[in-house]
Amino acid sequence: MKIKLNAWFQCIKGCSGRHPLNEIIYKCPQCDELLEVQHDINLLKQLGPDEWKALFNDRVGRHEWPYASSVWGKKEWVCPNLDNKNVVSTLEGGTNLFWAERLGSQLGLDDLWIKQCGMSHTGSFKDLGMTVLVSMVKQMISEGKNIRAVACASTGDTSAALAAYCAVAGIQAIVFLPKDKISLTQLIQPITHGVLTFSLDTDFDGCMKLVKQVCEKNDIYLANSMNSLRIEGQKTISFEIVEQFNWEVPDFVIVPGGNLGNISAIGRGFEMLKELGLINKYPRLVCAQAEQADPLYRSYMSGFEKFEAIQAKNTLASAIQIGDPVSVKKAIKTLQSFDGIVEEASESELANAVGRANLTGLFCCPHTGVALAVLEKLIKQGKIKKNNRVVVVSTANGLKFTDFLHNYHTGKIEGVSSDFAFAPVNLPADYEKVKKAILNTLE
Ligand SMILES: *Cc1c(COP(=O)(O)O)cnc(C)c1O
Ligand SMILES: [Zn+2]
Repeated sequence: MKIKLNAWFQCIKGCSGRHPLNEIIYKCPQCDELLEVQHDINLLKQLGPDEWKALFNDRVGRHEWPYASSVWGKKEWVCPNLDNKNVVSTLEGGTNLFWAERLGSQLGLDDLWIKQCGMSHTGSFKDLGMTVLVSMVKQMISEGKNIRAVACASTGDTSAALAAYCAVAGIQAIVFLPKDKISLTQLIQPITHGVLTFSLDTDFDGCMKLVKQVCEKNDIYLANSMNSLRIEGQKTISFEIVEQFNWEVPDFVIVPGGNLGNISAIGRGFEMLKELGLINKYPRLVCAQAEQADPLYRSYMSGFEKFEAIQAKNTLASAIQIGDPVSVKKAIKTLQSFDGIVEEASESELANAVGRANLTGLFCCPHTGVALAVLEKLIKQGKIKKNNRVVVVSTANGLKFTDFLHNYHTGKIEGVSSDFAFAPVNLPADYEKVKKAILNTLE
């Protein structure tokens, strides 16, 4: 497709000034607020809603580089002026929208769907945004910009995605991880990609401070979600959901929130769909937090009158163990436009939500457990009704968190009673004994 399109960085508070997407800039030079990517909507309106739908549909499942990726299949809406040869892709997105019929009926819902975003190259939805960021880095390097490495602080999934995409592109990456606060798989991911991996005696917020300092000088590009290129990729979750529902909008979308880039990205996706006429209403957005790391929930309870960063406490939902979220202002703005709800889940609630869901064939991570526990609460509170269509965004693959599941099923999580725990049966290889155990179970 050869129509002229344009997108740029702009201050979220509306200061004047547009910055090209291939400029190394993260904050507004006038007021120090975050930037967001703006698209020239009038140029995008050169195609009507039906033409966009047809174009996007046409690309699904084809292997014309790079459009088979569900992020790049919507390139015009994501990052239009990037050279296709600089795209760094692992065929992101296009994940299953799973009809959770059995889980839904146990919870009293007719229409529950799990968007399985963790079914991706590095096992979390962070791939969606990282493909955009690393592609832009490749473009900037090809233009001669001085970028010696790309760095991020992470609770485990951002670093895995950064490491993999940089390894695909042959770009040096550096990751800052909080020691003992991520899963073993998440620690191994950057290591096996040969990335410089720091395991630091601090929490995520401490890693974040350090990486910002490192990137300020040193010609190192910052890959955290304060870099709003990532948001442009993450917003395709919303495009995929409505496309999978044949361009219908669900009633609720629930997503676990930590640094709060994703709740705003999902909002941004729905806004674009509406501005360009592909949908005519919004879902209600729900941000699900862990009780142990709930600064947004506290702010919500005060009607968003104030926001205070907190010291996040240890939670099983380690990827959202964040007390000082970078994107909080964007998130509050989004929740206000989407009749949003913030609810929280305790350690016991999130672990048992995973236990229950996995009995219906899912294989959830603890963060998806937070979202599912919040779903249960909103049903009990009457905010979500039996006939509502609900999408829970499953953010990572449960296979990254087998240490959590192992502890759950062996009853080893302090303060959590494992209501759905099962253990393997240890027996000698003896037919009679095995038969007896089977008959006991089938009774
Ligand atoms: C990053 C992440 C989140 C939260 O996204 P934010 O944009 O930080 O709010 C939730 N779940 C998982 C598994 C993640 O990796
Ligand atoms: Zn500004």
